[in-house]
Amino acid sequence: MKKMKNEEDKYYPIGMVAKLFSISVAALRLYEAEGLIIPLKSKGGHRLYSEDDLKRIKCIRNMLEEKRLNLAGIRMMLSTIPCWELKPCSIKDRKTCDAFYTTSLPCWMVENKGEKCKNEDCRLCPVYIKSAACDNIKVILKEYWRTNTNV
Ligand code: SF4
Repeated sequence: MKKMKNEEDKYYPIGMVAKLFSISVAALRLYEAEGLIIPLKSKGGHRLYSEDDLKRIKCIRNMLEEKRLNLAGIRMMLSTIPCWELKPCSIKDRKTCDAFYTTSLPCWMVENKGEKCKNEDCRLCPVYIKSAACDNIKVILKEYWRTNTNV
């Protein structure tokens, strides 16, 4: 697949990504609206997708086609990632963050983020990046437990 030239060399435009997965541009926009992916926006407002984004889309497609989940189901699953542990956030941060309470939205989609996250670029956050393995949230949790406990 041909990549874009210039400084955005590692990114792919939406039309190219749609072709690659044999899906419509509207489907990719829907994944974004549903909070399953956060594409990079160019200065001109065009959506750009990285290699990691492609992996995420592949995972979403697998969940839809093989596992027979719908978009709301995938979103709910992503909402179970305990970002407050992974970040980590204090008890005080948790109390003021919608992500700690919601069961329907991934943390990067909530309206009221806690102090720790409200000015962050979620696309660059390890919680978001790791969730590209959307079909196996346990992998994220196991990694957390491995690095934070002696188990
Ligand atoms: S920075 Fe964004 S993706 Fe990371 S934990 Fe906070 S809300 Fe979630």
